[in-house]
Amino acid sequence: MAIKLHNTMSQNTEEIKTIKDKEVSMYHCGPTVYKYQHIGNMRTFLFADILRRTFEFEGYKVKQVINITDVGHLVSDNNEGEDKVEKSARENNQTAKEVTDFYTKIFLDDLQKLNIITADTIFPRATDNIPEQIDIIKKLEEENHTYRTSDGIYFDVSTFKDYGKLGNIDLKGLQAGNRVEFNDEKHTPYDFALWKFSSPDEKRQQEWSSPWGIGFPGWHIECSAMSQKYLGKTFDIHTGGIDHIPVHHNNEIAQSECANHVPLANIWMHGGHLNWKDRKMSKSDGDFVTISDLEKQNISPLSYRYFLLQTRYKQSIFFEIEDLEASQTAYHRLKNRIKDILDKSKEINTSEIDTTIKDIVEDDLNTPKLLAYLWDLVRDEKINTNTVEKIDSILGLKLLEHKNIPEDILKLKNERDVARMNKDFKKSDELRDAIKKLGYQVLDSNDGSEVVSN
Ligand code: AMP
Ligand code: ZN
Repeated sequence: MAIKLHNTMSQNTEEIKTIKDKEVSMYHCGPTVYKYQHIGNMRTFLFADILRRTFEFEGYKVKQVINITDVGHLVSDNNEGEDKVEKSARENNQTAKEVTDFYTKIFLDDLQKLNIITADTIFPRATDNIPEQIDIIKKLEEENHTYRTSDGIYFDVSTFKDYGKLGNIDLKGLQAGNRVEFNDEKHTPYDFALWKFSSPDEKRQQEWSSPWGIGFPGWHIECSAMSQKYLGKTFDIHTGGIDHIPVHHNNEIAQSECANHVPLANIWMHGGHLNWKDRKMSKSDGDFVTISDLEKQNISPLSYRYFLLQTRYKQSIFFEIEDLEASQTAYHRLKNRIKDILDKSKEINTSEIDTTIKDIVEDDLNTPKLLAYLWDLVRDEKINTNTVEKIDSILGLKLLEHKNIPEDILKLKNERDVARMNKDFKKSDELRDAIKKLGYQVLDSNDGSEVVSN
């Protein structure tokens, strides 16, 4: 059997054949570091992590790149308006470098908190790869795919007959002023900037000289340049959130395939959105939740991970904070049940279980099924340490790690047990809240209560 994944390009779930035997190369469109990443952005990187873990489970060597967009992402996806990083620097009275270093560090910390594996992952910055971007633009110019306007060098999509092939984009739907911006000088609304000139009226912090004049690269070209530099002209898998299908990924394909005359990636995968208050959680509208916001509400990053794993990566999720609290409780119950069962050390036959695990792991990142299967095994007490380790190598929930609970927390828990026994529910609720504020959670069950670390 082989790993099966859903390919946005073919719109089919396919058995994966990598370019090199037992090695996979993957490029994940990374964060724009002008603000905090929200928990929706982090969902997309968790999806990349499950992909990596799946290949590692199957014995593949994984080459992984997540770019850091630190220049060129303008307020509109199609290279119009102000640069998000320059704008943030101006508003916060900081240098562009201070802004991007700060948010990059927090992004990397959040990856760790979510137990997203980053060993050997390459995180290239767009600003460290300007010559590589210029080289591709030069190549496109030589082959007549570009034209010049008063504000930059543009890619002429009419020169690429397959433009819009990813996701079968209805080009008429990408109308001026909608996903792509209106600009008088563009030949068609969906032509996009490869290089933008610095405005004569305003000194930019981040700008470079180029064969076309001083300026900065468009957002799309950085991914074409960095994927090629680190993974080659064609690599195995390219991922991002579904919002990237219509514009960003079709533009990457147009640039790379016109410059290199080979497919950019063999498999394209897209993660569904995290929605909140009936809409996509979005960095630009400012109304979002971060990992540290969750921690402040005593929801641990791993409980959030558990919450996400209950839904297939490509489906959208609508959530309320209460859903995360319920997941946190379920997550701790699962860990505690596993511990109790393993403490009893019963012999089990795992060959059938191992086959089922492998079947689920190979089924297009089916984490909800894997989690449900683990719960079935726990209910039937059919687990041993090795089974849990195997499943957790995909889920990444640290299911076998248990922190010691400090004495003062245990004391509060005992006081609460007494209050509950005396039916003093007001006091028992107060003590539960006090314990929660200290970063722990009380779980009540028929067998009594226990306290766990968030
Ligand atoms: P950005 O920093 O905006 O370029 O986004 C980084 C990654 O997060 C991209 O792959 C986006 O597609 C993805 N993304 C943005 N918003 C959401 C969301 N609400 N839910 C899931 N992924 C998202
Ligand atoms: Zn990209």
